[in-house]
Amino acid sequence: MKELIMIKYGELTTKKANRKIFINVLTQNVERMLKDEDVEITKDSVRMFIRCNDSSKIVAKLQKVFGILSIVIAYKVNNNTEDVLQKSLEIMDKSKRTFKVVTKRADKSFPIHSMDYSKKLGGLILKNSNFKVDVHNPDITLTVEIRTEGTFVYTDQVKGPGGYPVGVQGKGLLMLSGGIDSPVAGYLTLKRGVNVECLYFESPPHTSIEAKNKVLKLAGIINEYSGRVKVHIVPFTKIQEAIYKNCPDIYMITIMRRMMYKVAALYAEKIGAKILINGESIGQVASQTLDSMVCINNVTNMPVIRPVACLDKLEIIEIAKKINTYETSILPYEDCCTIFVPKHPVIKPVLEKCIEYENNFDYQALIEEAINNIETITNFKEEFEDIL
Ligand code: ATP
Ligand code: MG
Repeated sequence: MKELIMIKYGELTTKKANRKIFINVLTQNVERMLKDEDVEITKDSVRMFIRCNDSSKIVAKLQKVFGILSIVIAYKVNNNTEDVLQKSLEIMDKSKRTFKVVTKRADKSFPIHSMDYSKKLGGLILKNSNFKVDVHNPDITLTVEIRTEGTFVYTDQVKGPGGYPVGVQGKGLLMLSGGIDSPVAGYLTLKRGVNVECLYFESPPHTSIEAKNKVLKLAGIINEYSGRVKVHIVPFTKIQEAIYKNCPDIYMITIMRRMMYKVAALYAEKIGAKILINGESIGQVASQTLDSMVCINNVTNMPVIRPVACLDKLEIIEIAKKINTYETSILPYEDCCTIFVPKHPVIKPVLEKCIEYENNFDYQALIEEAINNIETITNFKEEFEDIL
């Protein structure tokens, strides 16, 4: 295979003790991402190498694998200066003017120190080309990595997505709606290495099949960063109707969200998820004031991670656009949160009142029934190819 991609690991380099696990998980994730490609993957404790024939396609895929700091198209030559010089001159873009050499000496037995080597190679390039040196703001940064198995030279680095490899932190359950916030919350949590599965509450016939498909499409987009996203669909109609019948208007949303949390926490335990994740943002709506959060969060001890809690809506939208969920999120289908919405939802709910109103109906039985009837979509991509 004619091309060589070199991957630099991200934040995992600082986590000495877990390094091996991180690299193994990252390798599995890279293998999963490239399973349909003709590639050869090798790795050591600082770099991963991928041999392939079409690097542009592979690089695009690697840009969605968390744990990768940067991706370079590298050229491997023997550890001798003539070969390094020749390859350097070959890959330096002739339309550019200035350069600097950065040497990384991974092979400490190599007799010349990094700075000296950069000076030596820089001098030879000056002599053998029209390039000029600019150490502060060069057009080309030529990097030379001297390793025992050979020397790697490269000029361009593509930024990877950073973060930790998905899976190193175990599993989390994302409450995924069709809105803007929760897919962004899912993306940000995947980036921290959490293996995210999704829980969607649907209330047919009050919510439509289009609303559900929209959620599946969003899950498909965040699945591009994971390859393991599942969507669990909770039949929520009976619970919502019971709330509607039995609770005062102004408390309906608060109680609905408490029910969602109860279902989510119980189901998370069932599937081995350690945390809940959602797209709540402080103060965004009545159910996201601090008083509301206190009341709603009270139903579970499970950690609830809210990655966008402190972001402005515009900041969330910026990420949604970047990860390509925005256009889908703004499609106008009703969510179960937007049906039965009271005119004036309580913004300072009182916990005792929530409990009192909930005792008006047998929510335990309804929750159990809902959980028993959760539908899980595992082979996500294939099953939904038609609608995505
Ligand atoms: P928007 O971007 O319009 O705010 P949203 O998805 O954030 O949409 P909210 O009403 O703000 O909607 O809900 C707060 C959070 O509750 C969501 O981010 C999501 O995590 C969760 N949630 C709301 N509705 C559902 C649902 N039908 N299924 C699963 N989770 C939901
Ligand atoms: Mg929101």
